[in-house]
Amino acid sequence: MPRQSSPRAAKPKSAAGFTRRLLAWFDRHGRDLPWRRTRDPYRVLVSEVMLQQTQVSRLREYYPRFLERFPTLEHLARAKKSAVMGEWKGLGYYARARNLHSLAKAVSGNGVLPDDPAELIKLPGVGRYTAGAVASFAFEQPVAAVDTNVARVIRRAFAGGNEKRVWAMAAVLVPKDGKKAWRFNQAIMELGALVCVARKPKCPECPVRKDCRTGRRLASKDRRRQQRQKP
Ligand code: SF4
Repeated sequence: MPRQSSPRAAKPKSAAGFTRRLLAWFDRHGRDLPWRRTRDPYRVLVSEVMLQQTQVSRLREYYPRFLERFPTLEHLARAKKSAVMGEWKGLGYYARARNLHSLAKAVSGNGVLPDDPAELIKLPGVGRYTAGAVASFAFEQPVAAVDTNVARVIRRAFAGGNEKRVWAMAAVLVPKDGKKAWRFNQAIMELGALVCVARKPKCPECPVRKDCRTGRRLASKDRRRQQRQKP
């Protein structure tokens, strides 16, 4: 698959403040999750595939168990399909397990995953998000990884619009330094999962409210309402 192109986006003025406050919040409030403690590409990949369509809480049991049974890409590549499907039982969306197994077989010859999203996306079951996530979370590449949570935050904070516009904005927001990009991508996902949630975003307690288009609009609406209520 060719590298996907995106329109270019201009960096918003609020981007620096957004990133600074987001990272400070993540340092204090980010959850301690097993896949955040590793840079092992295989372990990162397994977590990303499992997290597609599945809540973090359910992975606390499945993720360590799967890795205990198949500790490396090579172990997974050599495993029987029935064994892989057996470990996946109960997680649902079984195409993920089949694709992960095919991927392991496809790369088992050289035993390593590529670090370039343009190469990762050619592997079975790897879409644009997973390619970016593995490149960033395993290899600390300064690339965007836009899942549903990230797209929601970007749309509300900076840019409405279609998927292409959101990816383009994500690309200009991601720090150029790979380690900082790792923290940024984790942090913006965490914000979408814990604060900027789908149904009722928790704007009053949001750390980036000052830098967010929606947050600022709601704050000025609140101020106007309070002024009207003054005797
Ligand atoms: S201020 Fe509200 S809309 Fe903006 S990022 Fe925070 S929770 Fe989301």
